[in-house]
Amino acid sequence: MNYLTCLKCEKCGKINMLPAIHCRNCGYGQLNEINFSEGALYSYTKIHVPPDGWNSTTPYIVGVIELEKGSLVSALYSGEKDALTVGNRVNLMLKDERLFFW
Ligand SMILES: [Zn+2]
Repeated sequence: MNYLTCLKCEKCGKINMLPAIHCRNCGYGQLNEINFSEGALYSYTKIHVPPDGWNSTTPYIVGVIELEKGSLVSALYSGEKDALTVGNRVNLMLKDERLFFW
């Protein structure tokens, strides 16, 4: 599986993106790997005018996914629907260094 691997702080519980040696929230040095294959849709937007250099089809949807309370990541939508529901559980997949959700 192409999980999203993060590091969870043993002291404060904050999810840190890789790479990290110390927790970005509290500075503690004991971080444990944690894998995510799903999260909750926190927000999303449909992009019609892409940034320079974007070489995929438009429009496309970018979502903000909450992994655990307060830990957010952005991901590209790879599903079929045009309208999504904030708060719904979504699947996550890491592919070619991009994070996708559906
Ligand atoms: Zn911490």
